Amino acid sequence: MDLTELASLRSAPVPPAAHLIDGTRRAASDGATMDVISPADGRRLTTMPRGTGDDAQAAISAARRAFDDGRWSDLAPAARKTVLLRWAGLIEAHAMELAVLGVRNNGTEIGMALKAEPLSAAATIRYYAEAADKLHGEIAPTAPATLGLVHREPAGVVGAIVPWNFPLMIGAWKLGPALAAGCTVVLKPAETASLTLLRIAELALDAGIPAGVLNVVTGEGSVVGAAIAESRDVDVLVFTGSGATGRRLLEASARSNLKRVYLELGGKSPNIVFADAPDLDEAAKVSAHGIFRNSGQVCIAGSRILVERNTHDAFVDKLAAVANAMKVGDPLDPTTAAGAINSHAQLEQNLDFVAEARQAGRRIVTGGTRILEDTGGFYMAPTIVAGVRPEDRLARDEVFGPVLAVMPFDTEDEAIALANGTDYGLAAAVWTANLSRAHRMVRRIKAGIVHVNTYGGSDMTVPLGGVKQSGNGHDKSLHAFDKYLDLKTAWIKL
Ligand code: ADP
Repeated sequence: MDLTELASLRSAPVPPAAHLIDGTRRAASDGATMDVISPADGRRLTTMPRGTGDDAQAAISAARRAFDDGRWSDLAPAARKTVLLRWAGLIEAHAMELAVLGVRNNGTEIGMALKAEPLSAAATIRYYAEAADKLHGEIAPTAPATLGLVHREPAGVVGAIVPWNFPLMIGAWKLGPALAAGCTVVLKPAETASLTLLRIAELALDAGIPAGVLNVVTGEGSVVGAAIAESRDVDVLVFTGSGATGRRLLEASARSNLKRVYLELGGKSPNIVFADAPDLDEAAKVSAHGIFRNSGQVCIAGSRILVERNTHDAFVDKLAAVANAMKVGDPLDPTTAAGAINSHAQLEQNLDFVAEARQAGRRIVTGGTRILEDTGGFYMAPTIVAGVRPEDRLARDEVFGPVLAVMPFDTEDEAIALANGTDYGLAAAVWTANLSRAHRMVRRIKAGIVHVNTYGGSDMTVPLGGVKQSGNGHDKSLHAFDKYLDLKTAWIKL
């Protein structure tokens, strides 16, 4: 990491942000702005437009025109590839600038943000760029007197609504395949993490992505996001965020044009530790990082540890040792292990979960409090709560903060019942040296991804998506193209 560059960027003034619509920077139609508060110190970083329904409509119309006139969708896929590769290169060249801006905006520790945000976004866009000219249609195995062709066509205008925890990474998971497929996009970033997405949209123009192909509108979800969801000109809606918003998006689709809606809605992911794990110290370290990095603001965070009873107490001690050794604080300090909580409201929500657990008599092993309040920033100590019961809110609902619920189990069957006993099904892990048990658990756990003897850290080659109320559809891998490409059959009599 270039520490000199980091030092020069950390307190650089951030000019007021603007929407990017049809290739131009624009204020809100009524001129309204909203403050961008840095969670690192609670102070105003800059302002951005408080978008209106008209702003969303302007962006949707621009995306519609850009799609319909073929300025992007009719390019040879190899030509889209060239432009997207150039974009990925620009994002990479601006990686430190983007990482620092993102950290000041959303509070993620810089060590993680640099890799997980601009560098991951560049890699994602490159992955889909390279795939753009390798997607083929099909010739169906019909009788000789007919020819059945299956075309794959770009689906049209994509509305993408993304969250604040990893705006570039998750944004790129949508933008990469959508743009490579030939779609045009209206992107709505989260209120507390819009700046870097606006910046990479500018870089997209520099790379040669035509005006109107990628539009970004900032503002409130209930205004800008809702306008995108209700629009009859949006063909596909892709979303990462809360279940409550996901439900609203499905309703909006039903009320409007039945646009396809793909949802990634978080989880309450079980991390199951058997006493025969190959290395319990490693399991404790990776598991603690799996919930405490980015202060637990990770959709696949391993927020429930289910641990075999005969090793429960020793394992909790190991977890607490790792948690207590983690440096929490200034997210722009490269030695920080966990940065700030994204917003004051999120911090309060995290603390409410702990207060409720405390009141119910659960054991707060470590943490449970706001820390570093004198900085003005929003920080919380890594928190472990033991003796959590399946009926507790802490065992069922996503906290989206650095709060780990620990529960003991006695048998494989009991571990499965606990693991599958929530409405979610996003991620999971199993720690065991017993190969048969590992495979049995992978089959029985209801989740989109099951890690074995690790947590997190997959790459672009595999899909990510949830089952049950964690959502539908998949980001990452070539499967992500399914959301952005329509199949069309040509049935030809010869
Ligand atoms: P979180 O609790 O993680 O902030 P949200 O679902 O509230 O999750 O936010 C995720 C994204 O959804 C953000 O970009 C937010 O602005 C947007 N959003 C929130 N409410 C709505 C809504 N009613 N319609 C459309 N988008 C929304």
